[in-house]
Amino acid sequence: MVVSLHDVSPLTQTLCEEILARLLPLGIDQTSLLIIPNHHRQAAVSENSSFRNWLVRKVEAGHEPVLHGYFHLREKKKTDSFWARLRTEVYTAGEGEFFDLSTEEASIRVQRGLQDLAFLPRKIAGFVAPAWLLGANAEIAIRNLGFLYTTRLGTVRTFGRGADIRSQSLVWSTRAPWRAVMSLAWNRCLAAYLSRAPLIRISLHPFDLQHPGVWEQVRRLAVETRRCRECVSYEKFVESLSLPQGR
Ligand SMILES: [Zn+2]
Repeated sequence: MVVSLHDVSPLTQTLCEEILARLLPLGIDQTSLLIIPNHHRQAAVSENSSFRNWLVRKVEAGHEPVLHGYFHLREKKKTDSFWARLRTEVYTAGEGEFFDLSTEEASIRVQRGLQDLAFLPRKIAGFVAPAWLLGANAEIAIRNLGFLYTTRLGTVRTFGRGADIRSQSLVWSTRAPWRAVMSLAWNRCLAAYLSRAPLIRISLHPFDLQHPGVWEQVRRLAVETRRCRECVSYEKFVESLSLPQGR
């Protein structure tokens, strides 16, 4: 199983810390932390030494740092089609930063993000686009910059290590009460469907913690899944794909 924590930034640090602390006694001591270098242009990691120190401690404790966009926000465009608006505004509340960037612009933002996170004690192997919306042009930039993998809602894509691994992630939406209720029902069914799948992905967001029903389901699923599976970061999972079977 892989547990990832999305939207890690100075804006969400307190909730992230609380989530990691609650996961630890469940036997989940390594997660993939999806870090935003400058969350909504309001929280530059490069200007926040206490956040950087906190993050270093988490990485040293075994969590994997993953680059998660740069600002996380996508600027609206006058030329947006109806379908582009539907996907980027309604589905993701305007968070699809890498949905339709050019290869050049994506490359600039990603390199800037890597620079901002260069204080970390280890190299970053993964890039996950905000809202999992990674456009084809932006994906070229990610591949060219030497990342090992990216993930989408339904797949893990390893660059140069074989075909996509299909695995629908469990993920909760708490933007509105009705979404949270739908999430609970959907994830209950999905978890049952996935119970024998080779990989189970649990994707958490900081605000999941503030919804008691959601957190209770997360906790229960994490405990049940951990009982019979190893919990690793995405990077370790991807590395394991190239090991001989049985190792
Ligand atoms: Zn995100």
